[in-house]
Amino acid sequence: MQNNPRRLYLPRRSKFPPNTMAIDRRSDWGNPYIVGSPGVPDRETAVQLYECDLLAGKLRGYRSGRPLSVDDAIRELRGFDLVCSGCPDDGQPCHGTILLRIANQPEKRCAQKPESAGQK
Ligand SMILES: [Zn+2]
Repeated sequence: MQNNPRRLYLPRRSKFPPNTMAIDRRSDWGNPYIVGSPGVPDRETAVQLYECDLLAGKLRGYRSGRPLSVDDAIRELRGFDLVCSGCPDDGQPCHGTILLRIANQPEKRCAQKPESAGQK
């Protein structure tokens, strides 16, 4: 696993470098909130809605429709560079940044509780 996974913008049909995963609408991680549809005026809103759904366990795979959880993001995306073909590097947010943060968050603290914790 590499140390500093990044979000990458690559135009459609470009070749993927090693250790990358698509998270745009070619994949299950694509953002179902389309800018310009009702209630989604801009990318910032689309990204916020995406994050809320993922954290609330309400996100569905863009292609498969399967439920996607934070644990799925960690299991499937952790350590990979995340490729989005939908968001050029124009300073606006991309849901890939959210996925990057969620997938690479530190291990849950209870999983690494030392044996002696809580003892006198
Ligand atoms: Zn994007």
